[in-house]
Amino acid sequence: MLERVSNILRLADQCSTSAIAFICTDYNMVYSVVTTAEKTNTPVIVMLLPEHVEMNNTMNVSGFAQMTKELAASVKVPVGLHLDHSYDYRSVMDAVRKGFDSVMIDASSHELEENIAITAKVVETAHIFGVDVEAEIGHVGLAQDCDGDKSDFYTKADAAERFCRETGCDSLTIAIGNAHGVYVETPHLDIARLEEINAATDVPLVLHGGSGIPHDQLEIAFTKGINKFNVGTEFLGVYYDAVTEYVKKTEGDGRPLKMLEVPMFVQERLEKYLEEKLKLSRF
Ligand SMILES: [Zn+2]
Repeated sequence: MLERVSNILRLADQCSTSAIAFICTDYNMVYSVVTTAEKTNTPVIVMLLPEHVEMNNTMNVSGFAQMTKELAASVKVPVGLHLDHSYDYRSVMDAVRKGFDSVMIDASSHELEENIAITAKVVETAHIFGVDVEAEIGHVGLAQDCDGDKSDFYTKADAAERFCRETGCDSLTIAIGNAHGVYVETPHLDIARLEEINAATDVPLVLHGGSGIPHDQLEIAFTKGINKFNVGTEFLGVYYDAVTEYVKKTEGDGRPLKMLEVPMFVQERLEKYLEEKLKLSRF
């Protein structure tokens, strides 16, 4: 069933675990996430990254929302719908109009004062429409630039406390050694900092850049306040490998309609990956 992201995160907090939010680009990915969540009885979050719509023409925003809602309605397990990194008021509100009831405003590239001002304005309007808002403080950069190693990007506990108080955000993305994309070296999460931030704030904390963080570090982070964990790169990689495998398997066999076999072939591979990944999420 479709469930509010804030309710899923509250449940995760009560269970001292994290919900996993998977970036999806199309039906194969959303279907696989919803089906595996149901099979494993694990609440889950389906996420759209606006960049994929704008730069890769993967899908339209309202179509993605409707597709996810319809799939969510067909299962018993809670499924949340969330919009990942949006950088301004207009694009957040556009997604709200198109069916998203949980969004992220990422003004973390601005100075703290400006970040607070932009986020507070988004939260004020979003809450009128009953929409949940995730925000970011500190800066989760790119793994390829080794941003996870730059401790001046890390979130500071006192700033996080002030940010939550002044913006009213519903969840908070923090930087504690994580970064987006493929890590050059194994990341080391700053768990002591996470504990400080968790003690200073009372909203669910979010960890981005989840592809490649060792599972033992994740398990600790999930018991110390991380209640939402984003995975994108790894999931897209599994998808690509599945397509490649199918092409190799069927190359040159001359059958004209083999394209129709692609969805179920890749869904099976995606579901296998998801089943393993969802074991981290202990509701
Ligand atoms: Zn992110």
